[in-house]
Amino acid sequence: MRVAVLIGGVGGAKLASGLMQVVAPEQLTFIVNTGDDFRHLGLKICPDLDTVMYTLAGLADPEQGWGIAEDSTAALKSLEQNYGVEPWFRLGDKDLATHLLRAQLLRRGHSLTAVTDCLVQRLGITARLLPMCDDEIPTIIKTEQHGELGFQEYFVKHRWQPIVKSIEHKGCERAAMSPAVSAALETADVILIAPSNPWLSVAPILAVPGLRTALKVADAPVVAITPIIAGAAVKGPTAKIMAELGLDVSEAALARFYGDIIDGFVNDIRNQPLCADNLRTVQLNTLMMDTKAKDDLARNTLEWIAGWAL
Ligand code: GDP
Repeated sequence: MRVAVLIGGVGGAKLASGLMQVVAPEQLTFIVNTGDDFRHLGLKICPDLDTVMYTLAGLADPEQGWGIAEDSTAALKSLEQNYGVEPWFRLGDKDLATHLLRAQLLRRGHSLTAVTDCLVQRLGITARLLPMCDDEIPTIIKTEQHGELGFQEYFVKHRWQPIVKSIEHKGCERAAMSPAVSAALETADVILIAPSNPWLSVAPILAVPGLRTALKVADAPVVAITPIIAGAAVKGPTAKIMAELGLDVSEAALARFYGDIIDGFVNDIRNQPLCADNLRTVQLNTLMMDTKAKDDLARNTLEWIAGWAL
């Protein structure tokens, strides 16, 4: 069964770990948000791509959810102590190796898709990892206190505290879906939307021109998994942003947000049952606190879909 997954960083990576246990990795394609990408110290940083990549490679830091486990910070300390550079964005030494190699390959003219393929192969990952797009579509957050902020300024520098007024996917009208993403959606048997932040991680992917249509015309069922459990986000600003945008913090609001691009919705057992026209729903334990819960969610989701769609 070929499974394509639209995915952000930390929340999505948990589902990715589970899927790796229940689906042959060669059958898995992760289409990853790159709206958070930015340049730092002259390097292109792709936080979500790297979080998923390190997770698939078994290198991820289980404590913080991003970066490489047991990494050191000598380069960052030297930048601060010797050069007075404020270390607002944390990059470990081993993590830096990824950014250096990526920068070199990009400078040689390869696309981000090709560069990611190369990194993934060298790490021995057999699942496919695709940036949502080879063009840059930076997520810009319009805030009450600071006006427009780049994503990492909002998320890391200001620790997602400013009030969000709106979110823009800059330059999306000039971007194009990559042939690899288009093929992955066309050939998938199941398309999942991971329990990632719908506004900060999934909306940028949906902003890639043609992607919404590709989901609507796909033969495969499209199923989203809730990132909201009992009226709150497990981690991060999803619930806060929903409230700031004037939405209910509820599974119903999430289902409305995805609208006609989804055929199914995996709701949590702690949430209110969801009733919506033309939408299949199921209530599962979606809280992935340990390896078993990750594997169970992946398996139960795919078994449920197989019961009505395959
Ligand atoms: P980011 O890019 O690092 O912010 O990560 P994502 O966008 O992939 O994930 C953030 C979202 O994941 C938040 O809305 C969390 O509520 C959700 N999340 C994190 N862990 C879990 C979990 O165990 N279960 C569910 N259902 N959602 C989770």
